[in-house]
Amino acid sequence: MERAGADWLHVDVMDGHFVPNLTVGPLVVEAIRPCTQLPLDCHLMVARPEDWIEGFAKAGASVITVHAEATAHLDRLLNRIRESGCKAGVSINPGTSLAAIEEVLELVDLVLVMSVNPGFGGQKFIEGALSKVERLAELRDSRVGPGFLIEVDGGVTAENIGRLSRAGADVFVAGNAVFGPKDRKKALAALRAALR
Ligand code: ZN
Repeated sequence: MERAGADWLHVDVMDGHFVPNLTVGPLVVEAIRPCTQLPLDCHLMVARPEDWIEGFAKAGASVITVHAEATAHLDRLLNRIRESGCKAGVSINPGTSLAAIEEVLELVDLVLVMSVNPGFGGQKFIEGALSKVERLAELRDSRVGPGFLIEVDGGVTAENIGRLSRAGADVFVAGNAVFGPKDRKKALAALRAALR
């Protein structure tokens, strides 16, 4: 993926509890770390994310993103991510309002807007995510301070990436759009071309 031109690697961590699927843990992140210079963007779709911050930080995560829905103490958790030396991200599911994260926007480097219900690859983009990105970008613009990146995850394609970028998104997670086609370099180039 690095040779194909990716900027970051996004690691979808699923625990079979918070989402109905099971993927990888810190050991896999630790194994990936020496293989690439790219930032490792670890998206924790797990119950009790507080149990996993140190493990992923030690494994070499660059960004650790947790779900607002998965914890009762989001403020404390985001502070702990930063204390671990990683960039802190917060994510919300399609059914969760921006109000759930409004009070912690000063504590994050990244907000991840889920544009599918997390758990599986290959799902169709939920159009409501577009207006959520727009409203989040307005919130960001209305504030002082260093701000945060807006990331979109789920069903991102060359067809919708331009609209997402114009709405204010900065980081685009693409699974099927990149791993589906045989030529991944070409697939990434097509996504970049659609951004312009
Ligand atoms: Zn993800």
